[in-house]
Amino acid sequence: MIARQLTGALYCISCGYNLHGLSIRSSCPECGVPVRATILGIVDPHAEELTPLSHPRLTAIGLLMWSFGAMISVLMVWCMRSAEVLRDIGVSAWMPSRFAWAGVGGLMISMIGAATLIRPHPGVTRREALRCSIGVSLYAALLFVYHAIYIGHDVISPSPIFAPGGDALGRSVLRVLMFLLVAGIVWGVRPAALGLAVRSVIVRTGRVDRQSLLAVLASLGIAALGDLLSIATHFSPVSIADIISIVSVVVISLGSVLFTVGMVNICIDTVRIYPVLVRPGVGLGDIFETNQQKTRRTGGI
Ligand SMILES: [Zn+2]
Repeated sequence: MIARQLTGALYCISCGYNLHGLSIRSSCPECGVPVRATILGIVDPHAEELTPLSHPRLTAIGLLMWSFGAMISVLMVWCMRSAEVLRDIGVSAWMPSRFAWAGVGGLMISMIGAATLIRPHPGVTRREALRCSIGVSLYAALLFVYHAIYIGHDVISPSPIFAPGGDALGRSVLRVLMFLLVAGIVWGVRPAALGLAVRSVIVRTGRVDRQSLLAVLASLGIAALGDLLSIATHFSPVSIADIISIVSVVVISLGSVLFTVGMVNICIDTVRIYPVLVRPGVGLGDIFETNQQKTRRTGGI
């Protein structure tokens, strides 16, 4: 039976090649589908990972919109902060609000992309779809908060990091709120995104890092800690408030860099998953039957 090597006849779930004699860790020499995908197809032909997507291209593009839209909104914050540095050192007086609007646009793209992940195939349970829908609807609140911070606040007080003025406390509170919303979105969308990533693990030998979304959450937590420190300066004696505010800028910067690196990794993952998703489904029902028929003919696997 299925030992370290396949001692009997087992037909590839994708192309029907006889996998006899191969290691269960290897892949089909004809089409490259891992042997364990064929085994999963026999053990559990209704496995969610093998359910064909209803609209493969739509889902694959949706996944890319989700990650790259979010990336745009993050990069725009870096552009705004770079422009702030240029203003503070007196190089330019440029105060672009178009970056903030581009960031809002990126979030909208990301929201539309996330919406395609709610029910990518008929195997999605009501509960899973509901959870993803909650994540998608939190985008509406996130759009509002992003707009309030980067357009509302930063127009009135254009140097929030180096010369906080205006309502710095309100801005920090909004940023903490923004982090909570992103955490809620990740909580809602992560199972759906992972469900798609698992197809890549099963159907391809390429490994997709399952922890990248959690890493992004952790880096957000660090940045949020920086904002909490910044909030604390408003309630601490003047003598230590300066030190706390410097520490908060350092912590926010560290969290922001880690967050951005994490986002880049997620974008790379979604690009790697793309060809797996648009590839025609492994077409299980029929092939499973074929496998049984072939097995019967050759006397069992
Ligand atoms: Zn094959």
